[in-house]
Amino acid sequence: MKFIADAMLGRLARWLRLLGFDTLYYRDISDGDLLKHAVREERILLTRDTHFLNIKNLGKLLMLHSDCPLEQVREVLAAFDIKAFCPARCPGCNGALSPADKKEVRDLVPEHIFFAHSSFQSCRSCGKVFWEGTHLKRFRERIGPLIGEGGREAGKK
Ligand SMILES: [Zn+2]
Repeated sequence: MKFIADAMLGRLARWLRLLGFDTLYYRDISDGDLLKHAVREERILLTRDTHFLNIKNLGKLLMLHSDCPLEQVREVLAAFDIKAFCPARCPGCNGALSPADKKEVRDLVPEHIFFAHSSFQSCRSCGKVFWEGTHLKRFRERIGPLIGEGGREAGKK
């Protein structure tokens, strides 16, 4: 399931990436380009802008009702009956994350972080490094209860 969020939904887009959903987001994008991405890449358009409802041949669209990003996440999860998350994606650029060797991140993270953590991940697209203590994990723990017991990450106990 892939998404594209309209320009008003930046926070939602970052949060969906943290939950592992491939979500495109551009701060400055025309409606035309937004639709082009959505159709060409078979992405579900997430929007709060009701004028999209009048466009024909739009493909899939989810109209969000809430102003609150957390509520919006809940709306998305409910609309598609999502019960499990995928491995997190980079909240900044939507790139896939992969485990990084500790030696490789030596110069990329603050010293106290380097010594306090043993597992790191880095974004294959922008190179940003993530570790267990980042908002990445905390956020997923916070969102988990919203979608019930089935919301645990696949493959983890
Ligand atoms: Zn990235």
